[in-house]
Amino acid sequence: MPLLKTTVLKVITTNNDLQRILFQMRSAGKTIGLVPTMGALHNGHLSLLAIAKTTTDIVVSTIFVNPTQFNDPADLEKYPRPIESDIEKLTQAGCDMLFAPSVKEMYGSNETWRLDIGRLETILEGKFRPGHYQGVTQIVYKLFDMVKPDTAFFGQKDYQQFLVISKMVQLLHVPVKLIMCPIIRDSGGLAMSSRNVHLTENEKKQALVISQALMLVKQQFAFQTVDQLKTLATSIINKEPDVTLEYFEIADRETLEPAGRDSVKIVALVAAKVGHTRLIDNIILA
Ligand code: AMP
Repeated sequence: MPLLKTTVLKVITTNNDLQRILFQMRSAGKTIGLVPTMGALHNGHLSLLAIAKTTTDIVVSTIFVNPTQFNDPADLEKYPRPIESDIEKLTQAGCDMLFAPSVKEMYGSNETWRLDIGRLETILEGKFRPGHYQGVTQIVYKLFDMVKPDTAFFGQKDYQQFLVISKMVQLLHVPVKLIMCPIIRDSGGLAMSSRNVHLTENEKKQALVISQALMLVKQQFAFQTVDQLKTLATSIINKEPDVTLEYFEIADRETLEPAGRDSVKIVALVAAKVGHTRLIDNIILA
């Protein structure tokens, strides 16, 4: 039987403790990887962790349900927070450190934040979740500043978020390497998400149409125009009575502007509400 490498997970809630422990790690010459999350961990999160473990010496995972990135207070309120089972999962996955601060630990009382991220702020997710990316950049910048990771790992699942964070890193000259990790799906194709726990069995079935539409678009990509593909995807998704499509876009992978004749790198992105639960997904087409 192979010997398992056991790691003791250090659970840290204050910046002081975080700095003390990171100082020890850096003094020992260790490279640091960061996997920021909002908890309610699933195999998508754990895949980021597995990739991080093969890339850096120490993996720091964070769990923080960041209030400034929620534009819907009800969504923030009902966001799942199963911290005990999260700690268990991180321990099993061999994570070295969990930083799980309180809101008070992360934010002063009168903080403001404004970063000009250009068009990414107002298209697709930005359009449907006003202010979301200001909150995302605010918290991710803080985490980068505190942890000072060599490498940070994010999921392709939040494709636009990855572009926004890349832009922030470039604008603010943050010395970190960003790695985008593939989307992990359940056996039916549904992209894993912490919000999936809110879906009823019936909604889960209907939600499959989202990834099915993406897969079909990928399959048909060489044979149909962008407009035809969008019509096809939209009509499939609209067939499910409890699925309300917010957008289905075929876009340039770097700007997220609608793909045109000259586009070479292309991604299809979708957001839809299934019942009361908002889901996003995407697929690389070219
Ligand atoms: P969240 O906890 O939803 O903020 O996600 C934390 C990180 O996990 C983000 O970088 C997400 O893109 C990533 N992530 C979430 N779901 C998945 C998934 N199904 N596959 C891969 N990465 C994911």
